[in-house]
Amino acid sequence: MQQLALRWKRVGVKIGFVPTMGYLHDGHLSLVREARKRLGKKGMIVVSIYVNPTQFAPTEDLSKYPRDLKRDLQMCRAEGVDVVFTPDDAEMYPRWGEAADKPARGDARPTGYSTYVIEEKLGRVMEGAARPVHFRGVTTVVAKLFNLVQPDVAVFGQKDFQQAAVVKRMAGDLNFPVKIVVAPTRREPDGLAMSSRNKYLAGDLRRQARVLWRAMQAAQAAVKQSNSVPAAKLKANLKKLIESEPAARLDYVEFFEPETLAPVAQVTRGAQMALAVFVGKTRLIDNIRL
Ligand code: AMP
Repeated sequence: MQQLALRWKRVGVKIGFVPTMGYLHDGHLSLVREARKRLGKKGMIVVSIYVNPTQFAPTEDLSKYPRDLKRDLQMCRAEGVDVVFTPDDAEMYPRWGEAADKPARGDARPTGYSTYVIEEKLGRVMEGAARPVHFRGVTTVVAKLFNLVQPDVAVFGQKDFQQAAVVKRMAGDLNFPVKIVVAPTRREPDGLAMSSRNKYLAGDLRRQARVLWRAMQAAQAAVKQSNSVPAAKLKANLKKLIESEPAARLDYVEFFEPETLAPVAQVTRGAQMALAVFVGKTRLIDNIRL
């Protein structure tokens, strides 16, 4: 991949990059379309598909993360993607698990690999607090992928708002010569954000999952009505609303300043809201600018 990218670079070809974990949906494809729009016909679009073990904790859903490479490749082809890069663990984390004290896959301590990239501020709250090794895995794999793919433009989804902020900060702090673009969240007709994990939502859970959207709409309405609402009060109301669905349990809901991710005590227009909700065993995240 790196040699191909360097060859392209030598002849002045621009590279657009969309990193994914596969099991693609229209949210991913909208990022491809955004990359194409930015680069024009002559640019090369690379999509990576890699379920990165270092961003999963041992208790998380790494081994059952949905996969369907054949379908993913068809979707990429139909969208005019030039290269689909599908590295495996041995390529990304050499000599993975070779030693006798083999860490569980997802332990984030792969044998034969010991270099990590850590963003120390934006990645501490919300998803970083709920999933302690998560962003270290994300920044590390994204840095590695940037070195392999050498993109001029990389497109991330607003769906993972904090991830986009952390990646942006990392790319700036470490002087990666790449423009990070953040593209809007694609939703199902009923408001549920598209996600590979929606596959887990069997039967009535799919209906109940709509409560994330309902909670965001309720917050919008509250801010519209009162201009300024105490965050604590809004959080309590939203927890009640969310947990009125029998299978839904609020992990967190936060209101914060979108650039710095600093929490706000009073929620006003322009604040960012992010939430994580377990629906059954599936943990869903979403966010919106109020
Ligand atoms: P994932 O495969 O879930 O790691 O996501 C790969 C990229 O697609 C990330 O930049 C996500 O933010 C983005 N993405 C995932 N779901 C959506 C969506 N519904 N709308 C827009 N982008 C998305």
